Amino acid sequence: MSIRNAILYNYWQDFVSLLFPETCNHCNQTLLKNELHLCTSCQIQLPVTNYHLCLNDNPIYNDLKIIENLVAATAYLKYSRHGMAQKLLKRLKYGGDYEIGKVLGSWYGSHLKEIISADCMIPVPIHKSKLKQRGYNQSQAIAEGLQGYVNIAIDNTSVVRNKATATQTKRNKTDRWVAMSEVFEVRSPDQIRNKNLVIIDDVITTGATIFSLCETINRYEPQSLQVIAIATGK
Ligand SMILES: [Zn+2]
Repeated sequence: MSIRNAILYNYWQDFVSLLFPETCNHCNQTLLKNELHLCTSCQIQLPVTNYHLCLNDNPIYNDLKIIENLVAATAYLKYSRHGMAQKLLKRLKYGGDYEIGKVLGSWYGSHLKEIISADCMIPVPIHKSKLKQRGYNQSQAIAEGLQGYVNIAIDNTSVVRNKATATQTKRNKTDRWVAMSEVFEVRSPDQIRNKNLVIIDDVITTGATIFSLCETINRYEPQSLQVIAIATGK
């Protein structure tokens, strides 16, 4: 782009943002030109966990480490009721905002780029009824955002989710675990065997989904498993 065109393009962007000012997803302040989804002061206040600084000794890894072949686990943000992570993920899961998933993924990707490597990323599959309702898999958005930094292929076909799992609030803990068994199915064992895989999730709470997914994947002998989530209550 020539300098003249670059200047014109900048004017155009300013003009568009005057007509359609974008606001911060957290505090609703009008965003500056170089801010995306969050204003700078909210971005500074993001409740980061820094678990990625020690991928195999942090609260989330320690919670999941009985999973066979698990070598690393981390989550970007601390999840709390009415906190920033909850608000951002709500937009992603229930607000139809695919873009915010990519933004969250790329923010975390910028921290993970030197420390994560693998053969492919598997976004936690969602059931086809959910896919129809939401229009997309939110973990796919996160994986796409991460991909800009970590350059690992996304595999969203080798594993599928066969059960939607009904609302779990009325079940007790044991029932919940039983309900999670046989939820996932591996369709392409060749894509799993001897591969180094990264599971991508939006939020990890009980860990039941991750346990169930990893248990299914482990039947096909992957080389290693890593788990990356955007948020965790742990
Ligand atoms: Zn803000």
